[in-house]
Amino acid sequence: MNGAKCEIPLAICADMYGCPNRCAHCWIGHMPNLPMAPDADERIMEKFRPYFDAIEFYSWLREPDFCADYRARWERDKRLSVNCVPERFELASFWRLVRDPEYVKFLKEVGVPRVQLTFFGMEETTDRYIGRKGAFRELLRATEILLENGILPRWQAFINEENRSELISLLRLSEELRLKERCAEQGGEFRFFVHPGGCDGENRRLYGIRIVREHIPEELKPYFLDLDDHRAESEFVSEWKDDASHFVPHRDERIVIYVSNENDLFFNFTHMRPEWRIGNLKTDPTNELIRRIVEEDIPALNEAKRITLGELVRAYGDPDSQRAFEEYDYKTYLLNAHLEKRYAEDHDGKDGDVR
Ligand code: SF4
Repeated sequence: MNGAKCEIPLAICADMYGCPNRCAHCWIGHMPNLPMAPDADERIMEKFRPYFDAIEFYSWLREPDFCADYRARWERDKRLSVNCVPERFELASFWRLVRDPEYVKFLKEVGVPRVQLTFFGMEETTDRYIGRKGAFRELLRATEILLENGILPRWQAFINEENRSELISLLRLSEELRLKERCAEQGGEFRFFVHPGGCDGENRRLYGIRIVREHIPEELKPYFLDLDDHRAESEFVSEWKDDASHFVPHRDERIVIYVSNENDLFFNFTHMRPEWRIGNLKTDPTNELIRRIVEEDIPALNEAKRITLGELVRAYGDPDSQRAFEEYDYKTYLLNAHLEKRYAEDHDGKDGDVR
């Protein structure tokens, strides 16, 4: 940085309160809930303000509104932001929706038109994948609360080899509950969609049961997100085995930085594991952290610029696998396999698990 402020917009998402769930697919990875100090938000912004023209501040990166004073919290997030207003997104805490009757009113007030709810099958499976008994019933109750208050529910379901048949039952349940008709009565559309998710974070551990393209039930195909973009792993392996290009994740139109509850910084490219750490807000000099962020100069990305796609797929791809991936997700899977191995080698064989 040469003294002028960076004109690329920045979004900071700080894990100030944690998450009530421990989803088996969580793409950023599981972390303990360690509430940050009440003034951590101001301390974080003090570090970034001198370097950026526009900063959106979010006090959450896992469960939104997972703090008792969510109204004051939202006002404070807006106040802390610089030259812009943070977004609300189509997200909410279903944990809070079923426990706090005021919360849905708040969502209405701040203009949330639709809320996404995540399933993994029927009751036993969804509870197990979310990591809490009662989660499935809470999701159904949250659906009702949203509809009663004029907010549309959107059901997303993660599919794999274990739950593929069960998701048909989930689709049938949405029909029995007349969600399509009830959303239409409110002038909106009920959305139900199915996808396997990326293969980073906790979902990486589910690689063994990742859905095989031919096993996607016919009934679910109309609801499968970007079905035509999903190909078998074996196709990628054969297509890329001599590919000399590099897969280097890069920011979109803005920089998004995750701040862990221990003040470690990460890009939003993939999971929050040590090999992706940018540095620490408390122990590293701020100007050096900003340089690494703006120039995308961290060991993981430098290694990505060094190793070719062909080398990655030859080392970590399975030529016999019919597991379904989208191209970007499969590239991320390969790169993470490599980075994890390198990290373990550099740290006496210990893997890079942050938990
Ligand atoms: S996926 Fe979201 S709700 Fe589930 S554990 Fe991760 S952060 Fe929490």
